[in-house]
Amino acid sequence: MHNQDQSLIFERSTPGRIGYSLPEMDVPELDVSTLLPEGYLREVEPELPEVSELDIMRHYTALSKRNHGLDSGFYPLGSCTMKYNPKINENVARFNGFAHVHPLQDESSVQGALALLYDLQQHLIEITGMDEVTLQSAAGAHGEWTGLMLIRSYHEANGDNKRTKVIVPDSAHGTNPASATIAGFETITVKSTNQGLVDLDDLRRVVGDDTAALMLTNPNTLGLFEEQILEMADIVHNAGGKLYYDGANLNAVLSKARPGDMGFDVVHLNLHKTFTGPHGGGGPGSGPVGVKADLIPFLPKPIITKRGDEYILDYDRPQSIGRVKPFYGNFGINVRAYTYIRSMGPDGLKAVTEYAVLNANYMMRRLAEYYDLPFDKHCKHEFVLSGKRQKKLGVRTLDIAKRLLDFGYHPPTIYFPLNVEECIMIEPTETESKETLDSFIDTMIQIAKEAEENPEIVQEAPHTTVVGRMDETLAARKPVLKYQKA
Ligand SMILES: *Cc1c(COP(=O)(O)O)cnc(C)c1O
Repeated sequence: MHNQDQSLIFERSTPGRIGYSLPEMDVPELDVSTLLPEGYLREVEPELPEVSELDIMRHYTALSKRNHGLDSGFYPLGSCTMKYNPKINENVARFNGFAHVHPLQDESSVQGALALLYDLQQHLIEITGMDEVTLQSAAGAHGEWTGLMLIRSYHEANGDNKRTKVIVPDSAHGTNPASATIAGFETITVKSTNQGLVDLDDLRRVVGDDTAALMLTNPNTLGLFEEQILEMADIVHNAGGKLYYDGANLNAVLSKARPGDMGFDVVHLNLHKTFTGPHGGGGPGSGPVGVKADLIPFLPKPIITKRGDEYILDYDRPQSIGRVKPFYGNFGINVRAYTYIRSMGPDGLKAVTEYAVLNANYMMRRLAEYYDLPFDKHCKHEFVLSGKRQKKLGVRTLDIAKRLLDFGYHPPTIYFPLNVEECIMIEPTETESKETLDSFIDTMIQIAKEAEENPEIVQEAPHTTVVGRMDETLAARKPVLKYQKA
């Protein structure tokens, strides 16, 4: 007999049982086969479980209990800023006037929604030090691609067609070279020094009249602030290139430093990280792009402008790269970010950065005794450790990550960035209490001791989860295995 919580929904299926009732149809039934092109109709009925409403409720409740989310436990996933999403954001996003707006409504009937977006843009202009912001892009990587397309159009408008290369440091986020490629550029990698920062000599070597832009992730993926940004900006600008700031990690510099003041021409932000949009399951997100004045003509259209007291969507933008997202971006995430900025206020946002950086440094220093610390200097919002010492005992970083599951923690990012052996990348964020940080640290210390005294318990983890260790490649490539009736 199956434990109810463990049985598959397919095993609970009983032919003919249904979980809904619909009123009797009072219009003729439509033959869908006439609506779809030939060859698109399924030939066999889908195999769906037939269960009652109560069964389906129990099914999803059971699944939700197995899921690890921010509201259920600590989630120190480096480079992801898994911080608490205040529930006031959700309440505001659910206001009827926001939740029930139709994207095709006439501008005159959605003045409040447009006012919110316009005001959010003004806040982000202030936060980034740029001259204009678009909220259209749907995520960080999408913002990168949008920003690079702006740079491309800028060079082309100047008749500067030989700028085909984008320079990306080896410590950049993986989406940077990917976005550059999708935007039609060739990626040139610039090396880091043994201090984990961009090697300026190498930058001088690769920069030239074919440079379209330098993309800088700052703080970089090692959690380190690039100390020579002004020099880099000079090198790239003197060669005629533009500077792109990957601001997904703004949690480390928010209210303290602004990309616009450092010489950057384009920046993207991740509202679903720094500005507390939820970001599980791949979205929806929001990756606004800020630009300096000379790039404004190329921004995606429409842009939101103000004519007198009225907000309008302006499509009259002859040099625009066009639209990058249907309608005007992921509105609901923008409402959440706006609520967050307004409810935190300037002092609150400053405290975010201070606590994010303090928490990361506290954790890094306490763990440095038990794990290798490849870059022994102050970090920003996150830091990297190396499990090299544990590897010598036969315990890999992957084992440590799996062992953390037994204690109810979502593991940190592992094996990234690639230039650190047995890398563990931890981002505690500012929303965690000292008690939570201490319990996680104590657990990491315990695992380091287990690696010395009882390595099997780490190597064979997890022991307490619903499923044991999975074939990760198979799980990623084939998330849904077809259910086979026994
Ligand atoms: C998360 C992240 C991105 C990508 O953002 P998505 O919204 O996942 O596309 C880009 N750069 C950095 C530094 C990031 O941390």
